Amino acid sequence: MIEIRGVSKSFGDTKVLDGLDLDIPRRNVVTVIGPSGSGKSTLLRILDFLERADAGTVDFGDGPVDLTTTRSSDIRKVRSRIGFVFQNYNLFLNKTALQNVAEPLIYAKGVKPAAARKVAAKQLDRVGLADFADRYPSTLSGGQQQRVGIARAVALSPELLVLDEPTSALDPEMVTGVLEVIKQLGRDGMTMLMVTHEMRFAYEASNRVVFIEGGHIIEQGDPKQIFEHPRQDRTREFLSSTN
Ligand code: ADP
Ligand code: MG
Repeated sequence: MIEIRGVSKSFGDTKVLDGLDLDIPRRNVVTVIGPSGSGKSTLLRILDFLERADAGTVDFGDGPVDLTTTRSSDIRKVRSRIGFVFQNYNLFLNKTALQNVAEPLIYAKGVKPAAARKVAAKQLDRVGLADFADRYPSTLSGGQQQRVGIARAVALSPELLVLDEPTSALDPEMVTGVLEVIKQLGRDGMTMLMVTHEMRFAYEASNRVVFIEGGHIIEQGDPKQIFEHPRQDRTREFLSSTN
């Protein structure tokens, strides 16, 4: 179990997260849903120290790490366990798909180049891009670029894969392929914390769905409970506004 505890964050006078607790069981897919501006991205960014929390800890099973810390050893320790898939891919445009996946292995993990290229080729195959290894991002569709982004994160063998609206920047016809890749990762046992506005996908791909609003978890449960039998009026209202 990965345990997130007491995460708070304000921007100026606005409290975006207010003492949020979240458990992510290993080999589970936990999906966070909620209105725009409810702090979903902020929570994910705090876990990767892209944003500094005002309070909170994360515990991967060997003791809590303070999410307010500025100690680079603690930050590195947490970051090395998390793979991050961004909305906008963040690929290196002057590198091929294979190089995009292989180079973090070489520079962040000290893997030898030949071995890194082998792992990268395998991960590109896994996301359906075996034939695109030598392509540059500008010659790939958005969906293909995002699959490179996923391969790059997964190649580093993270304990937790964090995905922030991985399909929200894609043309509709590109979404399915990316969602299929993510679903397969879930079936393969990857532990994931995901934010998505694709409710049908959240229903199908998640073990647990967490509805947040106003910096709090309003309700969480298995997808069937949340989508078919929400207990809270706010959850019901939110869900009816999304389709
Ligand atoms: P969500 O991902 O749920 O749409 P965010 O976590 O992106 O929400 O944002 C939550 C709130 O925090 C929003 O009101 C947003 O404007 C604000 N916010 C996010 N990042 C910053 C920042 N760096 N500076 C100031 N306000 C921010
Ligand atoms: Mg967001």
